[in-house]
Amino acid sequence: MKAFTYTRAASAAEAAAAAARPGTKLIAGGTNLLDLMKLEIETPQHLVDVNRLGLDKIEELDGGLRIGALVRNTDLAADPRVRRDYGVLSRALLAGASGQLRNKATTAGNLLQRTRCPYFYDTTKPCNKRKPGTGCAAIGGFNRNLAVIGTSEACIATHPSDMAVAMRVLDATVETVRADGQTRAIPIADFHRLPGDTPHIETTLQSGELITGVILPKPLGGTHIYRKVRDRASYAFATVSVAAVIGGDRKGRFAFGGLAHKPWRVAEADAAASRGPKAVAEAALSGAKPTQQNAFKLPLTERTLAAVLAEAKA
Ligand code: SF4
Repeated sequence: MKAFTYTRAASAAEAAAAAARPGTKLIAGGTNLLDLMKLEIETPQHLVDVNRLGLDKIEELDGGLRIGALVRNTDLAADPRVRRDYGVLSRALLAGASGQLRNKATTAGNLLQRTRCPYFYDTTKPCNKRKPGTGCAAIGGFNRNLAVIGTSEACIATHPSDMAVAMRVLDATVETVRADGQTRAIPIADFHRLPGDTPHIETTLQSGELITGVILPKPLGGTHIYRKVRDRASYAFATVSVAAVIGGDRKGRFAFGGLAHKPWRVAEADAAASRGPKAVAEAALSGAKPTQQNAFKLPLTERTLAAVLAEAKA
């Protein structure tokens, strides 16, 4: 690991100003960043600790909830209001990582975690996301668990978060602040980017912009389900996951993990809810470009949807 300085930010404005300085990284739970630093994929000269900014509360707001950026994943999953009104979020959080990691990982850090593409972590291999312009070892390499839709010729990585998939189905909004106090509300649909030819730019956050919280709109009601298919029973990233909110009128909302560079949701899939899992899967995966190794994710998505819809009916 390369040497770095360590300081604590005393305010959100101070943290945002620090985030704009070259060679500086913000750290909260550190559950992804420390691994990246040990592997020298991230080599910040300055680490700024944002843990003491007071952004660790869950508050009621306009009939919904405001989740502070530093609320730990464990606390968010256990909050009685989240369990009662946003069950899909609680379930997605509990499906992610391990108990120890959830105790440290924060809401903002979860949104900002980097892909788990194996070549991103192997510094001997080309990777456009780690080092722009070097190529993509995953295309033509081992890509069984990588993306099938929204991919580009530069990158086929997936976004690893379960929490973000649930937030996508709930139409959450990401709140930010800049050092000059200017705030912004970014719909989560627009927060994560597809890779295009700049896969190293993963979100629409600008330099010097700090996440302060996530807003959940008023509860949707209905049945909330998060179903995650993975290679082992715990502590594994999604091969395919489905976050669903199903109403009694057979209306549905679906978001998908493990399929794309961002939590995947399309209006046509929601509109197909009453026509069954095949129709929803076809709408969600229209235009998919799987590789030979990961084409199995298409029928697996349909089967996962079938299980979700059967569970909702039951
Ligand atoms: Fe890098 Fe993306 Fe290719 Fe993986 S898929 S090697 S992250 S460019």
